[in-house]
Parts: sequence; C-alpha cells; structure tokens
Amino acid sequence: MIAAKRSLGQNFLIDQNIINKIVNIINIKDKNILEIGPGTGNLTIELLKKKPSKVFLIEKDRDLTNLLKKNFSSKVQIINKDVLKVDENSLCNQILTVFGNLPYNISTEILIKWILNINPKKIWFDYLILMFQKEVAERILLNFNTKNYGRLTILANWRLNIKKICDIKSSCFKPKPKVESTLLLFEPKIPFVELTNPKSLERITRNFFMHRRKMIKKPFLKLFNQNKNLAVKMGINLDLRPQNLDLKTYLQLAKEYEKLRS
Ligand code: SAM
Repeated sequence: MIAAKRSLGQNFLIDQNIINKIVNIINIKDKNILEIGPGTGNLTIELLKKKPSKVFLIEKDRDLTNLLKKNFSSKVQIINKDVLKVDENSLCNQILTVFGNLPYNISTEILIKWILNINPKKIWFDYLILMFQKEVAERILLNFNTKNYGRLTILANWRLNIKKICDIKSSCFKPKPKVESTLLLFEPKIPFVELTNPKSLERITRNFFMHRRKMIKKPFLKLFNQNKNLAVKMGINLDLRPQNLDLKTYLQLAKEYEKLRS
C-alpha cells in the first residue's frame, strides 16, 4: 500500500460510478489516450477496458510509476516526468484525448501552458477531460462582469470550448480533499482569433488583473506607452475594472500590443 503524498496533490478517485461516468463521456475506442497523473491507476483500468489504441501515462511520482509499470507494462507507455516539463506537441504523432484528475496545486499552470503552446496548424488533442477544484472550474466557466472572472477565464475561453460535466463530492476521493471538484470537458475552438504570439494576451491579462479592484488606466497606459488616444480609438473606458472587459476586447488589446512590439 502506497501512502498518498500531499505535496503531489494525491487524492485518488475511489468512487466507481464517477470513474465509469468519466470514461463514458466520449467514445475512446481505437483512440490515443493521454492520462495525466494516473496515480494508482483507478481510472487507467477503466480507460483500458474501452479498448483505446494506445495509452500514454505521465506520472511524476516514482513509487507510483513503478506500481503502474508492474500493473500495466505491456499495455501502456508510462512516462515518469513532471507534466509541466513534457512537450505535449511531440508526445505522439496522432491526436490525443486527454484525461486527468489533476493535482490541484498545478492544475491552472498545466491548463495555461497547454493553451499558450497550442500549435494552430497541428492541434495535439481533440478533447481534454479534466478534474479541477470546483472554485477553479467556476473561474474557468465565468462570464465577464462577474466577480471572479479573470486571466484563466480569458485564456481558456480564447482557445477552448468548455462544458461542465458535473460536480464531484470530496467523499469520492481518498484521502478526502477539503474542497469539492468539478469535471470539465474542453474542445479546441475552431476557428479562433489568431495572435502572432499568445504571450501577448498572457501579458495583457496578467498586468490588468494584477490589481483586480483597481481601474485599468494604470496598466493600460504602462503597456501602451501612455497612449490615451489608443483607448479612445478602441472605445475603451479606462475607468473600468479589468472584469468589465469582455474576451473580444482583451483579444483586441493583445493585437494592438503585438503591433506596438512588431
Ligand atoms: N488519477 C488518479 C486518480 O484519479 O485516482 C490520481 C489523481 S491525483 C489527484 C494527481 C496525480 O498526479 C497523482 O498521482 C500525482 O502523483 C500526480 N502528479 C502530481 N504532480 C504531477 C506532475 N507535476 N506531473 C505529473 N504527475 C503529477
């Protein structure tokens, strides 16, 4: 029996109904699957029963990796690495369907990294089926003009269509986490607003939301060389708060920022 490591966000899913629900969200027969943080393999076993073509597992914990190798060696490719250090674009030549009961301490970091690295000419996944802390999932799903709308909402909705599947009670995990969870389904948004460098949107949103209760005047003028006329030209009221601007406006801002840098 392997003891769960808190530092690696190890809360193992033990509710068989939820596990069954996750593997039945889409048909994965003959598909290539990537599971992030398979842990003890509770979800992996059920994924394999659906007869996918190939399964890749990325697990950072060496003890768990050894356990997984013992249980699944011939059927899956197990990668003992930190998912944040893996180049998802070169994992496999074919499109992957991704599952993950993500370690909550790095779940937003994983999602943002994937979003910023999507290659529009060859998108490496068709679906992401991911479990988040409920409060993080709510932030991803929010609309502008709401209190917690922020960077994550904007970045995620820029590149992805997002659907909530269900909330999951903490009693479905062992050890039981302090928070509830939510399962989300993501699909690449096609078409989407192309940016020369996605980091521009990241930079804009990071600066604007640094002080979310303050007006956007200060970050705007800092990023756009004190150019007040640009705000007038774009029809942006600099007395607004960052959560009052919609996704379209943030994308326009990112494009203007790119023009300035080119
Ligand atoms: N999928 C399993 C389940 O549902 O029972 C375990 C989920 S648990 C919430 C998160 C898993 O991610 C753990 O197995 C943990 O060791 C692994 N993990 C944590 N940080 C990781 C990282 N940076 N890269 C890859 N795996 C990681």
